[in-house]
Amino acid sequence: MHGLILVIEDEPGIVDFLERGLRAQGFDVISATDGVSGASAALNHDVDLVVLDLMLPGRSGLDVLAALHDAKPGLPVIVLTALGEVEHRVAGLDAGAVDYLTKPFSLTELAARIRAQLRAAAQTPRTTLSAGDIEVNLITREVRRSGEPVRLSTTEFELLTYLMHNRGHVLSREQILRAVWGYEYDPGTNVVDVYIGYLRRKLRTQGTNAPIVTVRSVGYRLDAST
Ligand code: CA
Repeated sequence: MHGLILVIEDEPGIVDFLERGLRAQGFDVISATDGVSGASAALNHDVDLVVLDLMLPGRSGLDVLAALHDAKPGLPVIVLTALGEVEHRVAGLDAGAVDYLTKPFSLTELAARIRAQLRAAAQTPRTTLSAGDIEVNLITREVRRSGEPVRLSTTEFELLTYLMHNRGHVLSREQILRAVWGYEYDPGTNVVDVYIGYLRRKLRTQGTNAPIVTVRSVGYRLDAST
């Protein structure tokens, strides 16, 4: 089973050990060495699981855990703790998506826990969609970009989720019109372009455009590169 693992850990030796070991087990790995950059990496990348050390500079592991739980509730986290460290507080935060492992641990044990968490996450019905730094909760209909809430109208929400379900693929205006508005092709309407414009404006963050690409004379594509 593959997946993108984010390691948040400040000890270079352990980071190195985890990066090499998990890559050898077939996972893709990115890492952050403090709580602040760790939390932002978790929000800005499409990670499948986070391995989180509790004692971190910048922002504590528990604080990062609470932020992740808030912004990406379904994201599995494996917390690394020193013996006797606050296991009860971690366990109290979230029963489902959080597992913890006491240092020192073997890589085999960690890899087994990661696979178990990824399997469990795969079996849970999807309540969230994510593409890069965009996160959509399909139940509450909340949309976030880089953790910041974005308010969308019903139609904008339907358009975004359609693009996200088909991320990386070019969608023609006709396909979008049919899927989102339920119309058959009508050459007289530019409603798709108008709503793409609304969506881009709302998803734009400081210095970052929305990842919706115009494919000339065809339609639109949500960029899946991030
Ligand atoms: Ca540490």
